[in-house]
Amino acid sequence: MKGGFVNRKERECPEKSKRKRRKRKQALVFCQSANYNNMALSGTKKEREITMNSNSMQIPAHVEQIIHTLNSHGYEAFAVGGCVRDTLLGRKPGDWDITTSARPEQVKALFRRTIDTGIQHGTVTIMMDRTGYEVTTYRIDGEYEDGRHPKQVEFTSDLLEDLRRRDFTINAMAYSHATGIVDAFDGMEDLKARRIRCVGNAMERFTEDALRILRAIRFSAQLDFDIEKETFEAISVIAPNLAKVSKERIQMELTKLLSSDHPEKIREVYETGISTYVSPAFAALDWQNARVSAELPKEKYVRWAAFLRCGNSPETAVRVLRDLKLDNETISRVKTLVTWADVTPAADEAEVRRMMSRMEPEVWDSLMELNGYGAEIRDLVTTIRERGDCLSLKELAVKGQDLIAAGVKPGKEMGAMLHELLEHVLEVPQDNEKETLMKLLADMHR
Ligand code: ATP
Ligand code: MG
Repeated sequence: MKGGFVNRKERECPEKSKRKRRKRKQALVFCQSANYNNMALSGTKKEREITMNSNSMQIPAHVEQIIHTLNSHGYEAFAVGGCVRDTLLGRKPGDWDITTSARPEQVKALFRRTIDTGIQHGTVTIMMDRTGYEVTTYRIDGEYEDGRHPKQVEFTSDLLEDLRRRDFTINAMAYSHATGIVDAFDGMEDLKARRIRCVGNAMERFTEDALRILRAIRFSAQLDFDIEKETFEAISVIAPNLAKVSKERIQMELTKLLSSDHPEKIREVYETGISTYVSPAFAALDWQNARVSAELPKEKYVRWAAFLRCGNSPETAVRVLRDLKLDNETISRVKTLVTWADVTPAADEAEVRRMMSRMEPEVWDSLMELNGYGAEIRDLVTTIRERGDCLSLKELAVKGQDLIAAGVKPGKEMGAMLHELLEHVLEVPQDNEKETLMKLLADMHR
């Protein structure tokens, strides 16, 4: 039943709708014929990085295959959104989304392996060699009821309606080899100007879905783009609506922001006045002193630690991360890194070993980075590691079993004895032998 479902506006006013359709068709033709190559030839180096050859963009073979299959059955299909944006910017897209005029059941009928990802929202995932591609039917989002989700969605046969519901102009472009770029909202111009701008009225778009506020700031950090004036102003006004966004989603956006090439843009969360709505503890942070830099490894615990460690107590850091529902491993690692912020051990093997023993090796490496330890300490660390010095209970030559065999009762006291032995081998690493340690223990507890 290709093209058989009727556009909402068409139902309401068929004549007006015809006129609109004609106009849209003109817009499409314009998009296809524009020569974007010329745009790429002038400008600063950064601008030139956007070498947009919109009429022949590279897309993965699987995506091409999906589009081709849909086209050959009479449906429209395009790569859309973030993948088009990233490809035009020379970035590797995280995922490839496809938008189509086919309805979910029609999509499912054409492919062997599909997953019902969100049928009610029109999304089917097509599996190709273990990679999933989300294929979503062109849709119009209905009324937003809770400042976050549309009450219902309506399928449409009009690509431009589908592009119109998207958040930012740079995310509202579609591409296929057959048609080229479809850019009805000047996304290309904004890519070239390195600008985040809402599709349509910014106040309305942020009111519909407050998560877009954080997405705007996150994209500005990931892409090093500026937020256009009207969009920026709307962020501050609609900020209180962030209360309607779940803490997990807020956290995911902030983590992406901090893990980006411009983590320092976290300051925009404060400058726009939205920090209060992230969480009270987050708002009260000493953010002006934060030293989170793009040079640091991108793991989330490192970036969160870098942001939280200056001027904030470990308890405050833990509060913030708990509020945002980060996982326990991340919270524990950040706590360690904040606890040891700016502590530098003396250039002494035993002292370095003691400090190393307080955390996992990976976290220690991050601490060296964050605290900027110099060659003297790094050389000691290399020696300690090359020699295989014992740094944890796991590596101790005496285990709980050995103590039990020697008549010690399992429990608190046994734990304390093992720690005592560990303290000793951190001081004297060559004593990490079972016999030596058992003898030592006997002497200590005679
Ligand atoms: P990335 O995958 O790098 O996080 P993205 O832009 O691809 O960025 P996705 O969450 O994968 O983001 O969404 C894919 C596309 O869906 C977006 O490019 C945008 O067109 C649209 N989209 C996603 N979230 C929203 C939203 N909250 N409001 C409007 N459109 C959205
Ligand atoms: Mg994406």
